Amino acid sequence: MTDLHRLSIRELAEGLAQAQFSSRELTAHYLKRIEKIDTQVNSYITVTAEQALAQADAADAAIKAGTATTLTGVPIAHKDIFCTQGIKTSAGSKMLDNFISPYDATVVAKGKAAGLVTLGKVNMDEFAMGSTSENPFYGATKNPWNLEHVPGGSSGGSAAVVAADLAPFSTGTDTGGSIRQPASFCGLTGLKPTYGRVSRFGMIAYASSMDQGGPMARSAEDCAYLMNVMAGHDAKDSTSVEKDVDDYVANLNATAVKGLRIGIPKQYFNVAGLDAEVKARVEESLKKLEDMGATLVEIDLNMTEAYVPTYYLIAPAEASSNLSRFDGVRYGYRCENPTDILDLYKRSRSEGFGAEVQRRILIGTYALSAGYYDAYYVKAQKVRRLIQQDFLKAFEQVDVIAAPSAPTTAYKIGANLSPTEMYLGDIYTLAVNLAGLPAINAPVGFDQAQLPVGLQLIGNYWSESQLLSVVHQYQQVTDWHTKRAAIAEENA
Ligand code: GLN
Repeated sequence: MTDLHRLSIRELAEGLAQAQFSSRELTAHYLKRIEKIDTQVNSYITVTAEQALAQADAADAAIKAGTATTLTGVPIAHKDIFCTQGIKTSAGSKMLDNFISPYDATVVAKGKAAGLVTLGKVNMDEFAMGSTSENPFYGATKNPWNLEHVPGGSSGGSAAVVAADLAPFSTGTDTGGSIRQPASFCGLTGLKPTYGRVSRFGMIAYASSMDQGGPMARSAEDCAYLMNVMAGHDAKDSTSVEKDVDDYVANLNATAVKGLRIGIPKQYFNVAGLDAEVKARVEESLKKLEDMGATLVEIDLNMTEAYVPTYYLIAPAEASSNLSRFDGVRYGYRCENPTDILDLYKRSRSEGFGAEVQRRILIGTYALSAGYYDAYYVKAQKVRRLIQQDFLKAFEQVDVIAAPSAPTTAYKIGANLSPTEMYLGDIYTLAVNLAGLPAINAPVGFDQAQLPVGLQLIGNYWSESQLLSVVHQYQQVTDWHTKRAAIAEENA
């Protein structure tokens, strides 16, 4: 078969189980596409061809022996922030370009246990800090819809591989929008789960109180299959929550759109930088949901103006602490011929980290330093609580909250936005992480330049099933999620 890359996850699982094709055939098909097409997209940092084929053979044997589970033999790409035993885990940084993890992240281990075949590790913003995946060391990943544009970030590689059909689905992480915004920029479905739903063990930390892994794929159904693998309590992550996991696939029709109350925050649709076409597409999608029986309710989220400053204090503060371990001593990049220990620290860190990471470390160190700690960090924590309360109040009135995922479609590569301009682009995604809530992006159309637009739905804690279900039903009556970029139509 030449069009295996067009099949959904369910179709892949069924095709494998019914021996319509083997995992080796499927894996080889993707490897061939990667070899041919990724020269244009630059999404993979590492392709693990040999290991993938061995995993595929093992999957085929399991299918024959009748010991396979639902996803045995289905290929996946992992964001290069998840540790993979024996395979480079760079976090998109020169600092870790030589780092081979001695263990698997829980998400990766769960994937292996489910029989997934790892195609490789994909590009991202360095240490997940950024919104464009213009990586200073591994180069920019391109948006499959238009190679002159960015795929978004920080999980830009995870989005690009799916949009270009170089993997059927992928893992991403979201600290302030890094699953939802690239999903929006690349026309995909991406779910950021409730904080604590997916284990962070072996996921290189950016801002630990907000980092959360999640699935990126074409449809809510595809995401649900991957959520079934990723979600769950993990004793190795003290912030992972001991709470029953839903069967996200079985629940795809569990929430009725009819009667669903969707909150429309007044403040969100009057943001200065909101692109008129993005606004129009999002409103059209809300109209569609209304036609399906949902009720739109105007709500107030009064803390909107505080999102960007609060996040951009807390996230860098946590990053400055998390990244202090990269000092050139035990692992990672070490400068040449250090004269003394201070020189070793200084040069290893200034040569190993890119500009944006250094900027965040500086901001965070400042916010945490004696004398400024109360004025900045503690204050931001208090505002964070107010932001959470704002949402909880809204959820007394509505079931989900709607917003754009981003104020614009994908930026041009090299647009060179100032840090503040770039940070303002995160206005719609940050609060969800500050509050620890789940949220999903669904593709809802295109702008005139044929770049995808995304709708974000924010749910109350633990409402992943509900979010997937609402988007799934929307996708039963619309076809935005089935649209493919021209590059995805290319055959290898
Ligand atoms: N763009 C945001 C930042 O740069 C979010 C990144 C993320 O979610 N990892 O921090």
